[in-house]
Amino acid sequence: MATPKIVVLGAGYAGLMTVVGLQKKLNYNEADVTLVNQNDYHYITTLLHEPAAGTQPADHARIAIRDIIDEKKVKFIQDQVTAIKLDQKEVHLANNEPLSYDYLVVGLGSAPETFGIRGLLENALFIRNINSVRMINQHIEYMFSKYHNEGQRQDLITIVVGGAGFTGIEFVGELIDRMPELCRKYDIPREKVRLINIEAAPTVLPGFDPELVDYAVKYFESNGVEFRLSTPIEECTEDGVILKGGEEIKAATVVWTGGVRGNKLVEESGLETMRGRVKVDEFLRAPGHPEVFVLGDSSLVFNKENDRPYPPTAQIATQQGQNCAKNLVAAIRGGQMEPFVFDLKGTVASLGRKEAIGIVGKSKLFGRKAAIMKRIIELRWLYLLGGIPMVLRKGRHLI
Ligand code: FAD
Ligand code: NAD
Repeated sequence: MATPKIVVLGAGYAGLMTVVGLQKKLNYNEADVTLVNQNDYHYITTLLHEPAAGTQPADHARIAIRDIIDEKKVKFIQDQVTAIKLDQKEVHLANNEPLSYDYLVVGLGSAPETFGIRGLLENALFIRNINSVRMINQHIEYMFSKYHNEGQRQDLITIVVGGAGFTGIEFVGELIDRMPELCRKYDIPREKVRLINIEAAPTVLPGFDPELVDYAVKYFESNGVEFRLSTPIEECTEDGVILKGGEEIKAATVVWTGGVRGNKLVEESGLETMRGRVKVDEFLRAPGHPEVFVLGDSSLVFNKENDRPYPPTAQIATQQGQNCAKNLVAAIRGGQMEPFVFDLKGTVASLGRKEAIGIVGKSKLFGRKAAIMKRIIELRWLYLLGGIPMVLRKGRHLI
């Protein structure tokens, strides 16, 4: 019998957990496993708000893929996936021949959801990957550097963050930490800088624990952050944003953190999607395609308790990758697959280096304790990728 071919697309949380699981569980030559990713590194999305604000170097948020995979068991192709051809069981790549598969794992992550808001794609910045966060940091610095050269225009030192979900909040928290140093560097009084977080819903972090939200809001406001709640952004221009009702806020930096949708390649493959995400079966497979597993931000898994989809997080993507690796091994060996059951361990959001909020199990955490918990969660990811050696190599700045 021919050796089964497994192709894994994307070296994010879901793709890497699949590959790491497969390389642990499979014997040599039991399957041909190929991982495709557009970069030769994995970026730790859950840390990207730090380099975006300039509080940590971008290199802290990335790991070389060759330091994670066992090349005797997994072939790595650095390339961009351009199409998934389900009928031909092929994946098309920008610079290599098409890859055929017996099993496909799609872990291509998400894209910004702009809800068709005019001018966002052209004028806003996005916390997406290493390149985009380097640009945000450089852009903010450049705008601050222009301040004294261009008539001390207020818009140059006004930063608008669109969306007060977890990404927006974590980014604003980092900006608070960054401001003293940035203001010193460009001789700008801190009180002149405006950090404005704009949210369509009536509250910051809609749906999250009110006591924790209150803690975050008070901490932010005491550090000069302005919130605009119940105020959707309706347009983004070269000069700033226009809010519902017509008010304009002039800002040279607009960072959009208003939500995500599945990777467009998934939609384009012909699979049925909701906001670009595939409603998968209990084994995380696409409907009508038992050979295709869709994981992470491109998948939609419903919480049976309230019949609502789980939010797309690294936590669920990681557990999906672990489940998928087990199930692929079972499929190859003719064993029984295990249904995916999400085990929500909690949610912790940083508000900067020393502040965070979170719920772990039944406990609410604030401040320093929560910040330590956030670091532990980040260290755990490194451990899952490469054990203690990876923690020691990449995790020092977290300790
Ligand atoms: P990703 O991790 O995004 O990986 C997708 C991979 O696919 C990437 O390597 C990408 O380069 C690659 N790729 C994409 N398109 C192509 C292509 N065409 N060809 C080749 N390769 C491609 N979640 C939490 O649970 N906890 C947190 O604390 C947390 N913090 C976050 C902080 C920020 C700032 C952000 C933005 C998100 C955060 N999240 C957090 C959400 C979490 O990061 C995502 O849910 C998670 O990354 C999804 O994992 P994934 O494997 O689906 O996709
Ligand atoms: P999100 O969808 O969770 O939040 C987006 C926010 O933008 C919402 O509050 C929404 O009301 C607001 N918004 C939408 N349109 C708007 C408009 N026109 N004007 C103003 N505000 C608008 O998106 P996210 O924060 O990017 O998070 C994406 C996913 O990643 C989520 O599942 C989240 O849980 C996860 N995440 C988790 C963490 C963590 O656990 N620490 C951190 C970051 C992200």
